[in-house]
Amino acid sequence: MPMVLTLNAGSSSVKFALFDAALDDGPAMATGQIDGLASHAIFTARAAATEKECFELSPAGRADHVRAVNAILEWIESRLAGRSVVAIGHRIVHGGPRHATPLPIDDNLIEELRALTPLAPLHQPHNLQGVVAARAEFPHVPQVACFDTAFHRGHPFVTDAFAIPRHFYHEGVRRYGFHGLSYEYIAGCLRRIAPVEAAGKVIIAHLGNGASLCAVRDGRSIASSMGFTALDGLPMGTRCGQIDPGVLLYLMAEKGMDVHALTDLLYNQSGLKGLSGLSSDMRDLQASDSREARETIDHFILRTCRKIGSLVAALEGFDAIVFTGGIGENSAAVRKGVLDRLRWLGLEPDDEANERGDTVISSPACRARAFVIKTDEERMIARHTLEVTGLAGRSRAA
Ligand code: AMP
Repeated sequence: MPMVLTLNAGSSSVKFALFDAALDDGPAMATGQIDGLASHAIFTARAAATEKECFELSPAGRADHVRAVNAILEWIESRLAGRSVVAIGHRIVHGGPRHATPLPIDDNLIEELRALTPLAPLHQPHNLQGVVAARAEFPHVPQVACFDTAFHRGHPFVTDAFAIPRHFYHEGVRRYGFHGLSYEYIAGCLRRIAPVEAAGKVIIAHLGNGASLCAVRDGRSIASSMGFTALDGLPMGTRCGQIDPGVLLYLMAEKGMDVHALTDLLYNQSGLKGLSGLSSDMRDLQASDSREARETIDHFILRTCRKIGSLVAALEGFDAIVFTGGIGENSAAVRKGVLDRLRWLGLEPDDEANERGDTVISSPACRARAFVIKTDEERMIARHTLEVTGLAGRSRAA
């Protein structure tokens, strides 16, 4: 029985999922991850309908990406005997300005993607380490790169340019947008759930540890809250989101902060964590009765609504909003906070449906609609991988 393996390799973790190559839908056959690669590597995985397994990966504590991918292969062979991996799809954060579709991986593509490292220094090198490790462990299995930037690649110059000298745009300093695999998956779900709205003007709110918004018209991205990097836009778990660049100049000139200090501040010490002084996790903030936690949640909601306003202007209209990501899927309070501020867009929240986390959370009487849809980036990667390798039809026919 053929399977597709998806891999998402980060700096200290490798996440994986396995899908039946013959099925376009339905849950993963198995999911898992190796965390703590740099310190104390722990392997956690679960095959469908079995107990979660958890074990230390290496007696030395640390492990590299090769060891992690090797452990995934061993686990598959021991737990899913009789099944074979026929294709591997990789989540790659940056495809650069050229790539608007997933691509088969070869040496040339790896070199091209490596050259994009300065555009995503915290993600791209680790994504590629995962690719190199998987090619070593599965040398005869076709592999596919699926880019988080690809969904946004159809934007014109006026959407993606920054108002700095034009040559920077041509050198690659432009808005790219991220979370594209999630948006693509959600746009596909919306086409099935609500085809009329899906053909219209939709805001997708991917609110998780990383958070962004996408303006989608007839299933295509026309603008994103994220920009050159995954720092821009909404405040996130530990990232600042949009910030006046004058603050950075001030911190450099007056506080002596260099690029390393600023990188740590903006990526790791800001967002919900920095503002609350408590936690980067929305659940912790909601459970706290401190003023700082409450103000942080209110700030997150206000910033989300202001950015939605700007994307509605880009769309020149509004038909629906979809909430997704850990916060968007699970926090009725954040969704209510956002929806209550969007009544001017013709939205009326259905509070009971919102509390239950129903798929439709707007009242039937209102003009615009609100939805909650669980995202599945791994499923999107698996679909792309089957399409690019030409295995989609064959596996289904088999
Ligand atoms: P993600 O990065 O998509 O996994 O989302 C992680 C974020 O979702 C964290 O801030 C979590 O606190 C938040 N989250 C997950 N479950 C809940 C919940 N039940 N209520 C509020 N926030 C949640």
